[in-house]
Amino acid sequence: MAVSDHVNLEQFMEGVKKRNPGQPEFVQAVHEVAQDIFEFMEDKVEYHEAQILRRIAEPDRIISFRVCWEDDNHNVRVQRGWRVQNNNAIGPYKGGIRFHPSVTESVLKFLAFEQTFKNSLTGLPMGGGKGGANFNPKGKSDAEVMRFCQSFMTELYRHIGPDTDVPAGDIGVGGREIGYMFGQYKRITNRWEGVLTGKGQEYGGSQMRPEATGYGAVYFLQNMMKHKGMDVEGHTAVISGSGNVATHAAEKITQLGGKVLTLSDSGGFIHDPDGIDQEKIDWVKHLKTVKRGRISEYADEFKGATFHEGRPWNVTADLALPCATQNELNEDEAKALVSNGCKGVSEGANMPTTLEGVKVFHDAKLMYGPGKAANAGGVAVSGLEMSQNSERISWNHERLGEMLTDLMKGIHEKCTEYGDQGDGYVDYVKGANIAGFKKVADAMLAFGVV
Ligand code: NDP
Repeated sequence: MAVSDHVNLEQFMEGVKKRNPGQPEFVQAVHEVAQDIFEFMEDKVEYHEAQILRRIAEPDRIISFRVCWEDDNHNVRVQRGWRVQNNNAIGPYKGGIRFHPSVTESVLKFLAFEQTFKNSLTGLPMGGGKGGANFNPKGKSDAEVMRFCQSFMTELYRHIGPDTDVPAGDIGVGGREIGYMFGQYKRITNRWEGVLTGKGQEYGGSQMRPEATGYGAVYFLQNMMKHKGMDVEGHTAVISGSGNVATHAAEKITQLGGKVLTLSDSGGFIHDPDGIDQEKIDWVKHLKTVKRGRISEYADEFKGATFHEGRPWNVTADLALPCATQNELNEDEAKALVSNGCKGVSEGANMPTTLEGVKVFHDAKLMYGPGKAANAGGVAVSGLEMSQNSERISWNHERLGEMLTDLMKGIHEKCTEYGDQGDGYVDYVKGANIAGFKKVADAMLAFGVV
């Protein structure tokens, strides 16, 4: 049977849009993958007949629930929580929990879809899921965050488990929130089990997990650069975000001899031409995780640095690492990076570049590592946390650091296998999409129609 007997890309996307009204982020994520997969599937009748892509783009299930909690003034507050279990063909659902006012079902569906391919790329046995709530932890007291997390878990616990679905952190969910949620899970079920990753080191968390996503994104960049005979050392970098991923990406760039010029948050960005060194990064970590302050305060603290509204992509640099959120780098900003001489982009965040921005990078043949490959280090070390919990063991920092380096190298190799265009250019988007898809698709074929 030829591909012409089946729907083409446009018809497929029309169907996706129709079935998912008002969910632009999800449609965007499916479109980005579908373009490559349609080309790859052209002569692969079995995938068409089994409707594999259509099935991957339809979550196994979406759980939506009410989360009630009481604020410090005794007002009853109501939020909406979700868990999107996208696909468990190759392992238990795995993916973070996001607490942010912008969280919608569309955002979580896009993240769970992306996560399916990302987890497959790591080579570890993990399916794809994502969850969250439209809760804003900013400005809330510790006690309010605790009550919210407990209420959230009071519903979520019945849908997850170490062999079913293992959530982790994401935007707005760090060590503090994971601790509150794990405590509530344990209290309700009377079981200590590896049901969440990103836990504290005292209670089953893996070393290297906090660093893994940011470090991994830089290792991916390093692999792309090595492939071209280049190195991070001596290069400048613009980074967005100032959370877990951004600060650890900045740390690794600095350790490798690069110079970080910017960090940001939703209020704007700081530009420090002297470079954001380790001491300054530690200050930002403290500002964001302990004081829960704003990045603008950096410019008051460090002479020579300036604060600007907007995003950092017009600052001239050799490298760019978007590490804040989705759709934070658009077509014009991508053009600005290219015309300012940027050589490589590695995405610490999920889908930070718009489809139009990706096309600019692609046309300029710039080294461009998409999030599903470049930021997979976080979930990879989460996978290692699951293994350590199951075996009741704990690997040390050094060993996990080596494992992370190897995993990122492996992911880079898989992307190159399917993305090498033969003219020295590697299309990492295509490579990641095809390599991630193939493993999940082959597992689904083995199961028959389920
Ligand atoms: P954090 O909550 O630690 O930090 C998020 C950062 O992004 C903050 O600086 C935040 O600023 C900024 N930000 C959030 N929303 C917006 C927005 N709408 N506009 C501008 N800035 C914004 O999250 P993480 O560092 O964990 O996550 C960052 C990205 O990395 C996300 O895309 C996440 O999905 C992805 N990721 C994270 C992984 C992890 O291990 N943590 C794993 C893989 C991917 P502000 O303080 O103003 O909100």
